[in-house]
Amino acid sequence: MASVELTNVRKVYAGGVEAVKGVDIDIKDGALCVLVGPSGCGKSTLLRMIAGLESITGGTVEIDDKVVNDLGPAERDIAMVFQNYALYPHMKVYDNMAYGLRNRGMPKDQIDKRVREAAATLELTHLLERRPRELSGGQRQRVAMGRAIVRNPKVFLFDEPLSNLDAKLRGQMRVEIKNLQRQLGVTSVYVTHDQLEAMTLADILVVMNAGAVEQIGAPLDIYEKPASTFVASFIGAPPMNLIPVTADESGLILKDGTRIGAQGIVVSDKDAIIGFRPEDLEVATGTESHIGGLLLDLKVLGVEPVGAESYVYGIIGGERVVVRVAGRSVSQPDDHLRVIIPKEKLHLFGGNGKRI
Ligand code: ADP
Repeated sequence: MASVELTNVRKVYAGGVEAVKGVDIDIKDGALCVLVGPSGCGKSTLLRMIAGLESITGGTVEIDDKVVNDLGPAERDIAMVFQNYALYPHMKVYDNMAYGLRNRGMPKDQIDKRVREAAATLELTHLLERRPRELSGGQRQRVAMGRAIVRNPKVFLFDEPLSNLDAKLRGQMRVEIKNLQRQLGVTSVYVTHDQLEAMTLADILVVMNAGAVEQIGAPLDIYEKPASTFVASFIGAPPMNLIPVTADESGLILKDGTRIGAQGIVVSDKDAIIGFRPEDLEVATGTESHIGGLLLDLKVLGVEPVGAESYVYGIIGGERVVVRVAGRSVSQPDDHLRVIIPKEKLHLFGGNGKRI
């Protein structure tokens, strides 16, 4: 058990690429921290610096209140799970899990106890005599986790461990990893580019952008209060709708020149961006004049029924938007709908993209 603390961590690769630009993250003992962001934002580099696989250009990495910057991977008491499980194909499951412990010279009976305990936890006991090629993708991934668990590390590091699995299996494994991590209580850092995986797994979510932390917090807090348009459009699917506006004394003007009714909403920045989640738009009935909010015209482009709900694609003030409605939608292309963003569902960002 251990905390992990990153203070002003930087990485400049040979050749001058600044991949990580001064990152601070404090991960409490037992927490599952997910690093999420688009490809190239620096999340693998950061994970590899925690693992000791990449040198640290600046700042400190502490595990259990001890600076580990200059320790090798083997001395940091961490275990890593990768996407390409890296199992030995010629070894049985048992031996794949026992391998690292044998290398460290652990007594045989102790190894046996650890492997069997981990196998029981992961429901792999009946597969211990098989070889990796005789396993499904999900079972292989579990063996890879078993190999990490038997080491009884202070910290688990996961590098996109589920990205080779199909969508359905990924969903199942996500639940398994979450339950396992809770059960074992081992502090974990998990890297993914998949926002759904990030939202559902994280105790603490770190959204990264271009080598820097854009926002840190509990997943639902970030969903409800994204700190920037970047976070707003990265977390949530379909993403938050964002519509640029200009404000003057008498209200808001959309980019296509339409002036919109803004009751009870004051925007101090001249250039701003209004945001709303696809599920937060209401169709106006004409009786909501007392409710604060923005009244807008939505031109329907098309409707996608996806089962329990439908996505209505349309245009507001020249900007494309998507709206989720429960069940089937009766809207047709070219319909015009009067819609409301209720005041409490409205997100406001300045022209610089930061939340107002
Ligand atoms: P992510 O995991 O978020 O996709 P990475 O940490 O792999 O991002 O990469 C961050 C940035 O650092 C990218 O611009 C990438 O091209 C660069 N980078 C990664 N590894 C190296 C390396 N060994 N040498 C130079 N640049 C690298």
